This record gives sequence, C-alpha cells and structure tokens, in this order.
Amino acid sequence: MLGSGIIKGLAVTAKNFVGSYYDPARMTTVEYPEQPTVLPENYRNFPFLVSENATDPMGTLRCVACQICEKECPPQCIIIEKSKDKKPDANGKMQLYPAVFGIDTSVCMSCQICVEVCPFDAIKMDKVFEIAATDRFLDLYLNREQLAKPNTYYHQIHPEEAAEVDGRLTADRKAAEEKAKATAAAKAAAPVAAPKPADSAVAPKPASPAVKPQDEPRRLVSPKPGEGGSPLGEGGPAKSS
Ligand code: SF4
Ligand code: SF4
Repeated sequence: MLGSGIIKGLAVTAKNFVGSYYDPARMTTVEYPEQPTVLPENYRNFPFLVSENATDPMGTLRCVACQICEKECPPQCIIIEKSKDKKPDANGKMQLYPAVFGIDTSVCMSCQICVEVCPFDAIKMDKVFEIAATDRFLDLYLNREQLAKPNTYYHQIHPEEAAEVDGRLTADRKAAEEKAKATAAAKAAAPVAAPKPADSAVAPKPASPAVKPQDEPRRLVSPKPGEGGSPLGEGGPAKSS
C-alpha cells in the first residue's frame, strides 16, 4: 500500500515517545555535555601508552621502542626514536625506551593495528573524544608525555581487557622468575670443574742429556805401592828431579 512505510515509521516513533515515559531504555536522547553518556567497553578512539606507575610515567612505560607499531601503522602516523641508553623497566630488566614517541591523531584512523601487533601490551586504545582543537598540526600531534597514561586508567576504561592483560603479564613475570631461580640453582649445584685433561697429558720433559764420558768427574786412583806417578794421574804435577 502506498505510504505504508511512513505509517510504520510513525508508529515506531510514537511507541518510543510514549514508552520513554515508562522505560528509561527507550530514552535515547542524552543532554550532552551536561549529561555525558557511558561509552561501551569496546569503544575506541586513539591510542595511548601504558605506564606501570602513575607517579613516574616516563620511567615506567611498557614500551621498549621496538618500532613494530610504527612499521605496521597503515597511514604511518606513529613516530618513534629509540633511546641511546637503557634503563630498568617495571620488572627491573634493562631495556631501551622511546626517546621520542608521537602520534599524529589527525591522521590516525583508529584501526587498532598498533595495539594488535605490540608484543609488550604497551599501547592501548583510549576513549577520549572531546579533542576539538584550532590548530591541526600543533594540537593534534600527541607526544610521549601526552600519550602516557597509567595502568589504573586502562583499568577504568577497559576493565575486562585490562584484567586479562594483567593476568597474562603476571603469569609471564612469574615464569621468568622461576626460570631465573632454576638457572641459578643449577649453576650452584654444578660440580667443581675437574683439572683439564691437557694438564695430565703433558708429555714428560725430555731427560737431561746423557753425561758425556769426558764430562765425568775424574776418579782419583791411589797408586799401587811401587808404582810411581802422581796420585792425580796423568794430569798430576811433574815430579821434581
Ligand atoms: S590506530 Fe591504526 S592508524 Fe592509529 S596509530 Fe594505531 S595503527 Fe596507526
Ligand atoms: S608500543 Fe609496542 S610495538 Fe610500539 S614500539 Fe612500543 S613496544 Fe614496540
């Protein structure tokens, strides 16, 4: 029938209008900004960097500047420069860190690929959307300090996801500690090293060269009675005449 679609649409509108007085779920209009809406768990906007400690965000960034996200970002809006030195991460392990980490959010398309490829759970998607600015270059390029947010914030905006990540990281750290302990115990239990076989197999030194007959000390021969001669033999002093 001609116009039946319009009539059905008006019926749905009327149903919601009347129903909104009885059922809050039908009240779809939100008085923003006085009444901010609650965003769903899986809402995402732009990435941020996770730090372990809110009081020292730059010192406890999970990011180790591996640059995988920079390479994989489709519009190439991530800029990273590795540090020249290393410093301990949240677990005390010496790691590189990003001396520079920036995201041009005017180019970012919120695809979340950087999050998917990060092996350290160091970058996650934020929920901020009130980012209106007047300068496209100065205001929408976020640097390392602006991107860093503590793990507690991650728990606030994505509680289920953050709990799953924390559980996995805790298990990984525990496994690493146990492995380190086992390695240390194996080293301590290892027997003292036996002397090198080469030491015992050293060929005996050649015997000192045989004494030549002429080198033998001359033996003094006592002259028999009646025999002349010197008791010193041939080399003895000449008899006086
Ligand atoms: S969300 Fe996508 S576009 Fe944005 S920084 Fe990550 S990888 Fe790049
Ligand atoms: S955010 Fe992750 S993938 Fe990107 S550089 Fe840091 S550790 Fe590597």
